[in-house]
Amino acid sequence: MTKTALYAGSFDPLTNGHLDIIRRASALFDQVIVAPMTNVSKAPLFTSEEKVALINTAVQALANVTVVAAPRQLTVAFAQTLGAQYLVRGLRNTADFNYEADIAAMNASLAADLESVFLMAAPRYRFVSSSLIREVASFGGDVTALVPANVATALTAKFEAPHA
Ligand code: ADP
Repeated sequence: MTKTALYAGSFDPLTNGHLDIIRRASALFDQVIVAPMTNVSKAPLFTSEEKVALINTAVQALANVTVVAAPRQLTVAFAQTLGAQYLVRGLRNTADFNYEADIAAMNASLAADLESVFLMAAPRYRFVSSSLIREVASFGGDVTALVPANVATALTAKFEAPHA
């Protein structure tokens, strides 16, 4: 049976920390589906379409990775629609652990057949979060070592654009 993993997240934007998790998951599973979600409670920097395009370019070399925008529904329901048996998440620290442990328990109660799989963040990217990247980039800070090249370019363009 094809082992398919769903890696859903905000990816606003994709960072090298996320990309490292995607690479490692692509070596563990037959197929990895990366699904950017749009958080309804906060205004995202990148649209769903922009996120899909940015992630697609960054994962081009990984043949078993595909990218689809997550619909507004439960992650477990989306996983079942895709035929995924695994949910992949990254863990940076104890804050991630506590947050992810609750989500995993809730997901297990909603869909017992879906297994959550956690990969520890690479030490060099443990401090990297999309929110910090957005903040640093908004002040013109250099984030080129922490995000894929196409994401760095997109961030520069976002923050250079004249404000409406
Ligand atoms: P956030 O939870 O900060 O909004 P995302 O939703 O984009 O971030 O994150 C999706 C998943 O990737 C989560 O499991 C998160 O813990 C993980 N992740 C985020 N940043 C990193 C990183 N630098 N290294 C490894 N995993 C990460």
